Amino acid sequence: MLAKNNRPQSWLEALKFIGHCPICNERYQDDHAKLFAKRDGANLVHITCNKCASNFITMIVMMGQGLSSVGMVTDLNFEDVQKLYKTAPLTVDEIISGYQFFQKNF
Ligand SMILES: [Zn+2]
Repeated sequence: MLAKNNRPQSWLEALKFIGHCPICNERYQDDHAKLFAKRDGANLVHITCNKCASNFITMIVMMGQGLSSVGMVTDLNFEDVQKLYKTAPLTVDEIISGYQFFQKNF
């Protein structure tokens, strides 16, 4: 539903403007899209294509005059995304330790 000024009022409404699955070109279905986080005005949404079952994560930001979105294909399902979103990001020290581990052992 559009507001009187025709600006999108929710991430679900904004999804209509994003459109199609990049894999099979099927139109996204509202009931296959789930919000998993909201942060600083950005809505993070997981979408499963109802035709080819590909998964996507998209960030939808509603701004004064419109909306912006950026997305990526993923192999994570909705439950994975919810779990991983809550984990702490890797630190630089952890990345260096991982690199050294592989250099030493393989
Ligand atoms: Zn698809």
